Amino acid sequence: MIVTDLSNSFNPVPKIKNVKSQRESKEKYEKVKEIKQKNEQLTKRNNRQIKGKKHKQTKEKEIPMKVKKVVWERDKHQCIFCHKRVEVFYANAHFIPRSQGGLGIEQNIFTACEDCHREQDNGKNTEFYNKKAERHLRRIYGANWDKSKLVYKK
Ligand SMILES: [Zn+2]
Repeated sequence: MIVTDLSNSFNPVPKIKNVKSQRESKEKYEKVKEIKQKNEQLTKRNNRQIKGKKHKQTKEKEIPMKVKKVVWERDKHQCIFCHKRVEVFYANAHFIPRSQGGLGIEQNIFTACEDCHREQDNGKNTEFYNKKAERHLRRIYGANWDKSKLVYKK
């Protein structure tokens, strides 16, 4: 940065002004630096997630919006357990859970309201709810419904 030497100047005003603007630009510079660093951190974290968590298996277990819509239509916009009317994002319950490699495909997904989904997940009633879900899916897909096809294979 070029700083004009004003030490011999009789008018001190430009010097003060200059110091002030110098301080301001330094502050601005620090702010920009901080934002840049934050951005870099976020980018690094995102990349790690893509490389790590979001590998193929995780991706295949996610439920694409297309599948949610198909399932929601298939289940007549209602929870398959209590038949309460629900919105499309409730078409998100897995028959075979993600933790066991259950895929995000329509044969493994059904519509469940928040309450029933919680009951299905809580362990106490899981078997009861899973039996109901199985009956529901078998009724729809018949002989084509094969549990072994619902699981991610390496
Ligand atoms: Zn329900």
